[in-house]
Amino acid sequence: MRYLVTGGAGFIGSHLCERLLDDGSEVLALDDLSTGRFANVAHLEGRPGFELRVASVTQPEVVEACVLECGAVFHLASAVGVRLVVDEPVKTIETIVNGTDVVLRCCARYRRPMLLTSTSEVYGKSDRIPFREDDDVVLGPTTTRRWAYAGAKMLDEFLALAHWHEARLPVVVARLFNTVGPRQTGRYGMVIPRFVQQGMAGEPITVYGDGRQTRCFAHVLDVVDALVRLIHHPDARGQVFNVGNGEEVSILQLAERVRDLTGGRSAIRTIPYDEAYTSGFEDMVRRVPSLDKIRRLIGYEPTRGLDQILADVFDEARGAGGGS
Ligand code: UDP
Repeated sequence: MRYLVTGGAGFIGSHLCERLLDDGSEVLALDDLSTGRFANVAHLEGRPGFELRVASVTQPEVVEACVLECGAVFHLASAVGVRLVVDEPVKTIETIVNGTDVVLRCCARYRRPMLLTSTSEVYGKSDRIPFREDDDVVLGPTTTRRWAYAGAKMLDEFLALAHWHEARLPVVVARLFNTVGPRQTGRYGMVIPRFVQQGMAGEPITVYGDGRQTRCFAHVLDVVDALVRLIHHPDARGQVFNVGNGEEVSILQLAERVRDLTGGRSAIRTIPYDEAYTSGFEDMVRRVPSLDKIRRLIGYEPTRGLDQILADVFDEARGAGGGS
């Protein structure tokens, strides 16, 4: 089987490409290298069955040619990170909505199974913990740019599921919760690579707000494993699944763990939100996935906890590679 991975040179996409190659499949990675990086897949160049094509997922002719050459599609290409969303909302919405529309139309034309990666952001400001797939979606006001990403991804989900309902196109939606591991950059605001970088440099670790907000971090290899197992599962079609890890940690606790792992040299500095972000930002207080649904369908159980995640990110930052 040859797979198309859009966003294949991104952080998660590059790990997915590697996993598929390890499984003996062929991979065509499509990436415009806007937030993806060639360095993420440089080690895959030259491996039999791997090809990187540099183009945008919003170009219909390019996507059509790629889809034709492949038997199934993982659609990961997207604008990423809260910072980019707040700073470039037009580009964010266009990439997400137009790109997904193009990919879905091509998949529909050639009847290729497609897995759409969505985001826990679509749960918006919900305070029903843990978040379940059939919960109501409560996004913030449209005047707050921060929700543009969630709104666009939600439209992607509706569009993908509409193709399933109208034409039985085999689509699966995976709502990814905070995903971490080697090759993730802190450039777009992601907290763990930022904290690790700050801790290693002996600089203050920057906790936004009071640090009591929580997240559940999943190792990228656990996430990729779920995606591979979902795409061909007959009972996953037309369904939405949370993908993540249930272990909840506050951002302040996270900062303390990173500080301790670096020998306690860094101070922990709390920064008010309005200094941390340009206007148009709102944080989520708690974000915890219910994993009941995916557990029931494929027996999914994340195998790597926060200790392993931090160990791998530190290994990479120290130049040891990581990725166990
Ligand atoms: N955060 C922080 N310091 C940083 C970067 C992020 O305290 O240097 C916080 C951010 O405000 C949020 C959490 O860490 O509460 C996770 O942020 P991230 O951007 O990684 O992902 P999000 O879950 O917000 O999409």
